[in-house]
Amino acid sequence: MPLIIETLVIGAGPAGLTAAYTLSKAGHDVVVLEADPVYVGGISRTASYKGFLFDIGGHRFFSKSREIVDLWNEILPDDFIERPRLSRIYYGGKFYSYPLKAFEALRNLGVLQSAACVASFGWAKLFPVRNPKTFHQWVRNNFGERLFSIFFKTYTEKVWGMDCDDISADWAAQRIKGLDLFAAVMDGLRRSLGLNRGKGGAKSLIESFRYPRRGPGMMWDAAARKIRGFGGKIEMDRAVCGLARDEETGLWTVTARDAAGVVQTYVARRVISSAPIRDLMRAIKPAPISQLHARELKYRDFLTVVLIGRSDIVLPDNWVYIHDPSVKVGRVQNFRSWSPEMLPDEASTCLGLEYFCFEGDGLWTSSDEDLAELAKKEIAKIGLMRAEDVVDATVVRQPKAYPVYDEDYASHVTTIRREIALRYPELHLVGRNGMHKYNNQDHAMMTGLLTALNILAGETLYDVWQVNEDAEYGEQGPSGAQEALASVRMVPRRAA
Ligand SMILES: Cc1cc2nc3c(=O)[nH]c(=O)nc-3n(C[C@H](O)[C@H](O)[C@H](O)COP(=O)(O)OP(=O)(O)OC[C@H]3O[C@@H](n4cnc5c(N)ncnc54)[C@H](O)[C@@H]3O)c2cc1C
Repeated sequence: MPLIIETLVIGAGPAGLTAAYTLSKAGHDVVVLEADPVYVGGISRTASYKGFLFDIGGHRFFSKSREIVDLWNEILPDDFIERPRLSRIYYGGKFYSYPLKAFEALRNLGVLQSAACVASFGWAKLFPVRNPKTFHQWVRNNFGERLFSIFFKTYTEKVWGMDCDDISADWAAQRIKGLDLFAAVMDGLRRSLGLNRGKGGAKSLIESFRYPRRGPGMMWDAAARKIRGFGGKIEMDRAVCGLARDEETGLWTVTARDAAGVVQTYVARRVISSAPIRDLMRAIKPAPISQLHARELKYRDFLTVVLIGRSDIVLPDNWVYIHDPSVKVGRVQNFRSWSPEMLPDEASTCLGLEYFCFEGDGLWTSSDEDLAELAKKEIAKIGLMRAEDVVDATVVRQPKAYPVYDEDYASHVTTIRREIALRYPELHLVGRNGMHKYNNQDHAMMTGLLTALNILAGETLYDVWQVNEDAEYGEQGPSGAQEALASVRMVPRRAA
């Protein structure tokens, strides 16, 4: 029989590594199994290609939680840089500052369109849709039909692959909470008049962010090194495919497969899982009763076409939201603006064109060559780089980038949680897909941290499911419009 591991962690993303870091630092025996053969960091990894570095998305390091910021500084004390933030929206052949600047928006939209926006806002306020059920109705009630169609509809539909009439109003209320039109207009006016500099406050005002100089992967490589230094183990190329709990001893037998198909077996007292709930529940044998619910959980996938070249078009933005319906690309990342160290030389340009898709759909299954051609055509159309200036391209696919919040997801997750709490007390769910929570690194880390603290204490001090319950922060949305402050707090259960 293999040695008994105290805690086995599934996944070396932010959640899994934070749990392993906290446990191993306290001298606790911990083994992390990671499916990826090369990268730690999960969705927050930094991929590399011929010396060019890029994120899956673009990962700002921002947290309201002192504990998480302290952890970042502890793990990566010397490598953070402060970056100016600039992002714009591309719509109808024009660029709009994001967050919006009132006079610029007025100029771009023109007097007539602006007046129509105001009128449709007034109309929506006078005649709201009663009990709004859909995303469309909710946004229309709060911003008016005209603004909905310009700043919410196309981008939201690109991101979720669903019609705004099929997305629930609850989701809008949660993601856009805190952003009211009056505040946005006042903020836009202040921006136009240059009165916003140096102010803290609402997240939409944040004009710079912290970033590891060679991308977020730097954080997770450092975390992995430290975990190993504390005596913890991280095994790469180990995709967990089976879990079975011995009813008598309570021990878990965990099997993991490598790329060659070889299966390894581990025995552990407890398991922390950051794997997608759907995969985890499928791996548990005998099948949990709530496996049927897990099968209903849905995900949105994501791919980046990285275009490398030499371009004389000046692009100051970190990223640009592409609301224009005439192209499929949803967002363009400009990696030099994130950090000059993301590129191997000073002359190259490296842009990441982000496409939201479903695993197996036309975009996902297109060849890399076809995707590069599409991206070249679209970037030229938007005017951010000429097609002939592109000299190389690569594609990175990210399955399950977003857990989908459809009408039923919450009740499925509740049923699964209940069964796990009852039947598998030593199985802990953490992280984004691990808890089916649309959260950021800091939230994912907080769930890992609190789980580790509970384990070290030998009792449930913290309710991990409270993390992000009232969060108002998302890395995107209607142009990331609802970038309110993250609300991650360590709430002891007894005090809560
Ligand atoms: C486009 C985009 C932009 C984002 N921007 C930001 C941002 O600006 N700031 C921010 O803070 N956050 C951002 N995020 C969110 C951030 O990426 C996630 O919150 C974070 O990576 C979640 O960490 P995690 O450990 O829960 O999950 P993941 O990052 O998904 O890591 C899970 C790990 O588990 C592994 N795994 C899965 N299944 C198995 C298995 N069966 N066996 C073994 N290993 C397995 C995976 O390979 C992966 O390494 C962004 C996300 C996206 C998609």
